[in-house]
Amino acid sequence: MDSVKLAGLGLTALRSNFARLDRPYKLTFSITYSCQSRCLTCNIWQIKPTGELDLREITAFAQKNNYFKWVEITGGEPFLRSDIVDIVKAFKDNSKDLYIVTMPTNSLCNPDMVAGRIESILQLGIPKVSITLSLDGYRELHDKIRGIPGNFDRVMGMAKRLKEMQSRYRNLFFVFGYTMSKYNEGKLMETIAQVQKELPWVTANNFHVNVGQTSDTYYKNSDMQLRPDAAGFVGELDQFLKARRPEIGAIPIVENAFLKRLGYYIKTGNSPMRGRSLDASLFMDSYGNVFPSIMWNRKIGSIRETDYDLSKIWHNSEAEEVRKLIAQGKEPGAWTACEAYQTLVGNIWSLIV
Ligand code: SF4
Repeated sequence: MDSVKLAGLGLTALRSNFARLDRPYKLTFSITYSCQSRCLTCNIWQIKPTGELDLREITAFAQKNNYFKWVEITGGEPFLRSDIVDIVKAFKDNSKDLYIVTMPTNSLCNPDMVAGRIESILQLGIPKVSITLSLDGYRELHDKIRGIPGNFDRVMGMAKRLKEMQSRYRNLFFVFGYTMSKYNEGKLMETIAQVQKELPWVTANNFHVNVGQTSDTYYKNSDMQLRPDAAGFVGELDQFLKARRPEIGAIPIVENAFLKRLGYYIKTGNSPMRGRSLDASLFMDSYGNVFPSIMWNRKIGSIRETDYDLSKIWHNSEAEEVRKLIAQGKEPGAWTACEAYQTLVGNIWSLIV
């Protein structure tokens, strides 16, 4: 059954190479903008959100749009929502071909509570549940970037719990999510080495690397200058790629293709290929506003105004206008994991060369 769902995801992604899809297969959904972190790289923590979608509304959305194969839950800190298990369950119950749910955590919530919620999500029977533990540096550096003393040790504690949980749940995957910025320039390999001292089973393959992004819509940080020095970044990325051992499987292939093009993105500020926004994927914020991608501040509608039916937004004139811009190569450059994976599989040649 899991392999059927994986094949369904693969075939849909493959189809996106040759034809416009009639509906998206990936949803990126910020379920809350609440966050107890104090990151130097992001202003989400300064938002005090009110009026976010409640569980009834999210369930209505999941029922009316029951075709997602991949749901990326994000935040804020998603585990601050006490109904996170029910939110994931709403998608699992309605999207029968759902193959993967991914979500990050800053590891700052009560660890027993987070572990309990993750375990409940794992028991829903989704073939793949992937958790990203945010980690931007070794102990002192991570705590400084995140603005929370002791955060590094909390990440280590959560990693130990997830490792133990993996012996009971074959559908659990997790990585450390490292966001490169001017604040941690040149510190990636040192960070990996310190994590290995705490957790000897960790390798470079357990790290996912991203570049700090700026965005009005999402991080609310467009006034920040986060980029690391391009030449230094490329050298650091090269070292990291060499430290990763080859792995078999669709996800490692896509991950490597993503990493190989990260240097180009840093040097030029452009995405290396045309994106698949509003074809394969969309971003929805915690109020139900729909955007082409997490980085593009161009709202195309609100599910609160369409009785939670995405199809009424998907085909509206604003969406068509945005698709024309994408076809003309005018999508703002944003090589983030949220967008790049479906872009890579929608440009299948990029996985071969
Ligand atoms: S980067 Fe994540 S943890 Fe940090 S403030 Fe933004 S949402 Fe919170």
